[in-house]
Amino acid sequence: MMNKYVDMDTLKFVLYDVHNLEDLLKRERFEEHDKESLDLFLESTKDFADKELYPYLKEMDEQPAYHKEGKVYVHEQVKTMMHKGGELGIISASFDYEDGGMQIPLVAHTAASYILDAANNHLPGYAGLTQGAAELIIHFANEKLKETYVPDMLTGQWGGTMCLTEPQAGSSLSDIVTKAKRTEEGFYKISGQKIFISGGDNQFTENIIHLVLARIDGAPKGTKGISLFVVPKNRPKADGSLTPNDVTTVADFQKLGQRGYCTTHLGFGDADDCQGWLVGEENQGLNYMFLMMNAARIAVGRGGSAIASAAYYASLQYANERPQGRKLSSDGKKNMEDNQNLIIEHPDVRRMLLLQKAVVEGSMSLVHLATKYYDLELTATSDQEKNKYNTLLEMIIPVVKTYPSEAGIYAVNNGLQVLGGYGFCSDFILQQYYRDIRINAIYEGTTGIQSQDLLGRKITMGNGSGLQMLLTEITIAIQEAKKHQELIPYASILEEKIQLTQKVLQELMPHAMKGDFERYLADASIFMEFFSLIIVGWTWLEMGTKAHEGLNNNNAKYSNEFYIGKIETLKYFYAYELPKTLGHAEILLNPSTVTIKKELEYIN
Ligand SMILES: Cc1cc2nc3c(=O)[nH]c(=O)nc-3n(C[C@H](O)[C@H](O)[C@H](O)COP(=O)(O)OP(=O)(O)OC[C@H]3O[C@@H](n4cnc5c(N)ncnc54)[C@H](O)[C@@H]3O)c2cc1C
Repeated sequence: MMNKYVDMDTLKFVLYDVHNLEDLLKRERFEEHDKESLDLFLESTKDFADKELYPYLKEMDEQPAYHKEGKVYVHEQVKTMMHKGGELGIISASFDYEDGGMQIPLVAHTAASYILDAANNHLPGYAGLTQGAAELIIHFANEKLKETYVPDMLTGQWGGTMCLTEPQAGSSLSDIVTKAKRTEEGFYKISGQKIFISGGDNQFTENIIHLVLARIDGAPKGTKGISLFVVPKNRPKADGSLTPNDVTTVADFQKLGQRGYCTTHLGFGDADDCQGWLVGEENQGLNYMFLMMNAARIAVGRGGSAIASAAYYASLQYANERPQGRKLSSDGKKNMEDNQNLIIEHPDVRRMLLLQKAVVEGSMSLVHLATKYYDLELTATSDQEKNKYNTLLEMIIPVVKTYPSEAGIYAVNNGLQVLGGYGFCSDFILQQYYRDIRINAIYEGTTGIQSQDLLGRKITMGNGSGLQMLLTEITIAIQEAKKHQELIPYASILEEKIQLTQKVLQELMPHAMKGDFERYLADASIFMEFFSLIIVGWTWLEMGTKAHEGLNNNNAKYSNEFYIGKIETLKYFYAYELPKTLGHAEILLNPSTVTIKKELEYIN
């Protein structure tokens, strides 16, 4: 039986009502699309996910990718994901027409990817990385590279990867040592090891195009000396045939979760015959890679929210079917003559369900907000507008990556708890979601690294002007919410949280101004938790406002139950999640130096 894993009405509410997709469609770039055509795209994606992704979720966990005799073998749905998904436009839909795309807004494409992630999180990454790698080639590589590689990537015949991590260079990319040696023939000889490369090999795509960060002979140390290369697994020859390019698959890491999504160790140039082609200019590699990394960070946040969505609906179904215990009567006792209640009637179970709904839908809106900013930047008609949306996107990216991942783990943990003992058993899917979602807080920059990006780079960006721009957007949402009597208390709480943010930053900033960055960033992760809750408080206020408008509209698209569900979840978030910021503020306003390393090692 097909279980629910995503609520299509909520997804459309987020797209059309909260983020006004139809306004975006008025822009020239998107003029050939309308609500009907985008709905069709979403529905066909849902149909594809129902038939080709969801049914294989458990099987892909039980039959993980594996390495044998220099090759990685993956589940055969990877082929379906790439080829049928490619036909559907899963890889190319948001690209320009002239590059083989459909020019649909990225925010709509994100909704489609969200459906796929929620259906089976082991599969969409193969297509997503191919999309990201193709996008890098389109943006920064020369025409020849574009013509050679992009068309087959967009149809899913060829895959793509991002190769950053090395054994000694994970969080710190400045320590990358993979080498690129210039040759007379125009290509570079690549040599080195990359580890943890997602989608790095499989038996179905006839070629895999690796986007590799490497250091050209004599390049400066650190991130300023990193260049980007297209390194195919197989070199295309003039007659269209392929010849091996000395990329070896050393291993496939066996993992806690996402076991169907292979994670490879790749060797480049063991036989001194690995050819790579420079993308753009020398030593600009990390700047280019940021395009792919930003997209991948949004994708990781999207995946976190989507896995938590699937877990929520699985636990909700269980809570609606499982009888256990009885309600307490007015004397505090149970009447054994009564039938057992369904567990969904117990307040503590309802708390765990509301918690999940609050995290899932709050982060769903956040992820779509990020891609809306991307679309608004792409279609901006002035430099000022472009700069505005670029800044807003940069400001929220670390939160978009981190909140759905971290809060997603917390949500799925509660989903598992709803099932009691069965939650721990492999007959039920919750334990798999719990394992699968754990990676989201690690790859694409750990929570610690994202938090340093938020506090160290984004909050200080343009002397705080980026933060100011973001706070202005939040203030506009507060004013909108205040038009609805019922929402005034929540709007006021969010106003107080903005003031609290400013107070916290006034406390922290002097450390940065004194140049004591270790101290400034020591509690960056606490600041991330604090700031994320406020950002998601904002997304909930926006959703509450739109739900209120729906309730007051006689021709509303959704039922009263739907809108009231949103408003009640907003209330939950403001009563149970947002107050946690007070605890964070207490830590940040009275910081301890206990975590900073001193001469005597006391962690022992
Ligand atoms: C399943 C999986 C898939 C992956 N896919 C890819 C991929 O496709 N391509 C790719 O290039 N990489 C990929 N990675 C690599 C991933 O991005 C890295 O694992 C991640 O960035 C962390 O690097 P690391 O593992 O070396 O951990 P480390 O960098 O060693 O971090 C260990 C711990 O120390 C903390 N830490 C490190 N440095 C600092 C610091 N300066 N300040 C404070 N704390 C710090 C970290 O937050 C973390 O908690 C993948 C990893 C996994 C597990």
